[in-house]
Amino acid sequence: MEVLHHPSPVLKARAHEIDPATDEGLRDFVRAMAETMYAESGIGLAAPQVGVDKRVIVFDVDDRLAALCNPVIIEHSDEKVVDEEGCLSVPGVNVPVERSRRIVCEGMTIEGRPITIDAEDLLARVLQHEIDHLDGVLILDRAPADLKKSIIRAYNEANNL
Ligand SMILES: [Zn+2]
Repeated sequence: MEVLHHPSPVLKARAHEIDPATDEGLRDFVRAMAETMYAESGIGLAAPQVGVDKRVIVFDVDDRLAALCNPVIIEHSDEKVVDEEGCLSVPGVNVPVERSRRIVCEGMTIEGRPITIDAEDLLARVLQHEIDHLDGVLILDRAPADLKKSIIRAYNEANNL
């Protein structure tokens, strides 16, 4: 699978919910997403990044591969943390992004079982980043106002745009 890069319009669109129970190729799709993520040395990947309009993400934090369908963040901690993020769809730049330090996320496994994830620190950051992709939001959109222009300029230079 090929990872799309900004400014692909697919990356700006809101992806649609899926029904894991009736989504025939879901298991193979998720496996291919995971292979792509590992091949690109990423720790998370969202379906829109490979051009697929589905609310599906894969991630691997602490050597545990997981997939999540239709994830929704139901709780954000008041405590926020700024840290540098990279993105396979935004190669060549890192962006300081403010995220909640802890979140609670609901979703479904690929078998369609409801699942709740209570996540902190890196896992919370990865989930917020990947769920942003499902809503068409990139780290460039999250860049601090005073750095946005220079980050976009650096991105364009790094990618010959
Ligand atoms: Zn990303």
